[in-house]
Amino acid sequence: MIYDVIIIGGGVIGCCIARTLSKYDLKICLLEKEAELASGTTKGNSGVVHAGYAAPREYIKRNLCIRGNKLYTQAAEELNFPFQRIGSFVVALEDSQIKVLEEQRRQGIQDGIPGLEVILDKEKIKYMEPNINDEVVGVLHAPTAGIVSPYEMTFALADNAATNGVKFLLNQKVRRIKHQDYTFTIKTKTQEFKSRNVINAAGLYAARISKLVGLDYFEIMPRRGEYILFDRNALHLNKILFPTPTKVSKGILVCPTLHENTFVGPNAQNITDKKDISTTEAGLKEILEAGRKLVPNLPVRSSIRNFAGLRAVPDTYDFIIDNTDIYGFINIAGILSPGLTSCFAIAEKVVEFLELLGVELKIKEDYNPRRLKPERFKDFSKEELDQKIKEDPSWGRIICRCETIPEKEIINAIHAPVGATTVDGIKFRCRPGMGRCQGGFCRPRVIEILSRELNIPYEEVTKRGEDTNFLIAKTKDLTLKEIEGGTE
Ligand SMILES: Cc1cc2nc3c(=O)[nH]c(=O)nc-3n(C[C@H](O)[C@H](O)[C@H](O)COP(=O)(O)OP(=O)(O)OC[C@H]3O[C@@H](n4cnc5c(N)ncnc54)[C@H](O)[C@@H]3O)c2cc1C
Repeated sequence: MIYDVIIIGGGVIGCCIARTLSKYDLKICLLEKEAELASGTTKGNSGVVHAGYAAPREYIKRNLCIRGNKLYTQAAEELNFPFQRIGSFVVALEDSQIKVLEEQRRQGIQDGIPGLEVILDKEKIKYMEPNINDEVVGVLHAPTAGIVSPYEMTFALADNAATNGVKFLLNQKVRRIKHQDYTFTIKTKTQEFKSRNVINAAGLYAARISKLVGLDYFEIMPRRGEYILFDRNALHLNKILFPTPTKVSKGILVCPTLHENTFVGPNAQNITDKKDISTTEAGLKEILEAGRKLVPNLPVRSSIRNFAGLRAVPDTYDFIIDNTDIYGFINIAGILSPGLTSCFAIAEKVVEFLELLGVELKIKEDYNPRRLKPERFKDFSKEELDQKIKEDPSWGRIICRCETIPEKEIINAIHAPVGATTVDGIKFRCRPGMGRCQGGFCRPRVIEILSRELNIPYEEVTKRGEDTNFLIAKTKDLTLKEIEGGTE
């Protein structure tokens, strides 16, 4: 079979493109190298839907961000992913910074960003965000900025795309691409696929994929950003807080999450290893120090996790969105921040490119833009819950006590249209392991449920795919030598 479109990469960009194209009568497949979607940059970022005033005007990412922000309202409503427009403050702590805020406001309004205002009334600022530093002299308020859970949104996009016929294939690392007679032949370790068009959304590895078809015109470098996450309810922020930007960076922010945590980060370190998501003592000190300038009472003792994400920084510093010279090969590369915000606008560009390539874009009669909200224990009233437990007792078996996640939510995550197959897949879909104990109690139970539902032995259950197994064998099946690691 020959696909009309193959998308390489199952991050938020690839999944958003898949969902956008799923409304057309096309044969579409998405290939992802990892065992789960959203395993790359999409997993480790700030989750801010930016208003769009920050990027320089000469960059295409500025317009895509402004447009992308607007498209979130309809997408969140159709796909039922959690998203809140809580608004952001750019915080000035010195009078000299006010002119930066005024300029961002002026240009932002000219470019169609609604509601931007510079607030100089300290009482009003403190009322809107009581935790902000008392030294504040003014803020740029952007009411359209919001927060989203990047991976929950990616799963929503993928589930809806799959329901509308897109095929998602995991553990399929693209290794070779041949282009002949207007057809691409794509080889992974185990399979071969054919497609008329290819969309390269491979994040940090997009330059490598581009080179497979002989297009060697950009490089992608990893830039690491570290974070500290605080326990739920340790601090309640109303707003996303940015410092006044410098020429090189939007700076380190302090931000609430949709699950009532707060985080501080990210810093920006150019590194060379595209897999290095470690955190460093110096980096954590740097972000704490910066965060305290915005919120002096950061709840340091309630920190529950440090993590890092890698930006895919192109040598142009702008998004690379190209209908390339290789007919049918589209590069969507270097999607650094604000890529999450821009994804719906980027997907619109892909539709334009396919039209230019002469692909027939006929809307399917049975296209369904809606995805039902996953049922959550926490959303039910007591009466509803009693009824649910009566119908299915697994609603009453709490597996993760920190986040109150019952067995049924885990089972549903496994049997979603693009279901979870690993412990991390479960964690990012429905949160067991995200709480204060970070999985200490619930992990063995999650392994048990995955083994049962996927009908695989315990030893084959992994954290995040190949070579990340938790268990090697049943203790009773091992010899003493094996148990003691080879010493008798
Ligand atoms: C620290 C940090 C903070 C950020 N904060 C924000 C923010 O607040 N707001 C915002 O709008 N943006 C933010 N961003 C940017 C945003 O996270 C990215 O723009 C977005 O996640 C990029 O998604 P992607 O799909 O392009 O990349 P990825 O999520 O990396 O997806 C690419 C996928 O391709 C797969 N892949 C790679 N090679 C192959 C291959 N050979 N075969 C098959 N699959 C392959 C990878 O495994 C991966 O899953 C931030 C980024 C970082 C790092």
